[in-house]
Amino acid sequence: MAYATWLADALRAQGLRVHEEGGWTSRGHGQLSAIRGVMLHHTAGAATGNFPSLGVVRDGTGSLAGPLANLGLARDGTWFVIAAGLAYHAGAGGPWRDVAANAGNQHLLGIEAESVGTRNDWTEAQLDSYPRGVAALLAHLRMGADRVVAHKEWAPTRKIDPAHWPGDIPGFRDSVARILEGDTVNWSQTWTNPVTGTTEPASVTLRYMEDRIVKRLSGAIANAGLDSTVSNPVVNTTEKARTAIGYAEQRIINGVVRSVASLLDGQQTEPATPEAIANALAPLITSAVTDALGQDNEEQANAIVEALARRLAE
Ligand SMILES: [Zn+2]
Repeated sequence: MAYATWLADALRAQGLRVHEEGGWTSRGHGQLSAIRGVMLHHTAGAATGNFPSLGVVRDGTGSLAGPLANLGLARDGTWFVIAAGLAYHAGAGGPWRDVAANAGNQHLLGIEAESVGTRNDWTEAQLDSYPRGVAALLAHLRMGADRVVAHKEWAPTRKIDPAHWPGDIPGFRDSVARILEGDTVNWSQTWTNPVTGTTEPASVTLRYMEDRIVKRLSGAIANAGLDSTVSNPVVNTTEKARTAIGYAEQRIINGVVRSVASLLDGQQTEPATPEAIANALAPLITSAVTDALGQDNEEQANAIVEALARRLAE
């Protein structure tokens, strides 16, 4: 199996945001053996920051040399590709399926997702991106969700990770299975960007739509006059509405992935138009904004939705 130099492309091809950590294609404690599954971890790292555990995962600790995982998942849903070779992440444990006892590092790709591990601090972006990234890896390997194993299943007397995932590991596997069954989109396929008319890979259109939304979100917020103070039900704090809307933004971005996917699915019978994109995005914008601002702020939420939908359709 050698080095898994396909990791970044496999994740990107499914529309995920990827950061390639310098030197990753040759980083590792030698080669991997035949890959037989994917192992889930949490970092138990710092409570703040996007991926504060990067240094440890890449370089190791005083007592254990890095890399300590092949991949990292940041709080904003970005996948950090760290090592294509063998990483010290599984340690003693097993056997599991056809992976012999204590042979996890050789046969399992390790993912360290940023989380303190002592409470449910998984972000919306991670809840979406973790199972989708795992599904992308399994799809490349032509394996099913039964090839997902948690570190705490491998070493139950020694490990608790990943902890506090909604639905726990069976729920995680269900999410992966649903994605593998339902997501038949080929993000490498060439199509026509409905806004610019350019012929390009669908993944490029996806990035384009994301940038468009992010750039225009601030304008839409200004138009809606969101300087009032609201209670953000997500984090239970009182703050400016424009701060609360930041929480909605990530949810919208995650939803764009699915919206473009559904447009791609439907393009053979009905060409995707800017209006179709706006219509596809409106429901998820509505729910994301209402979630962030609360039902009391429905009027403001509607104003944002209208502004965004209009601008996306321009
Ligand atoms: Zn672990």
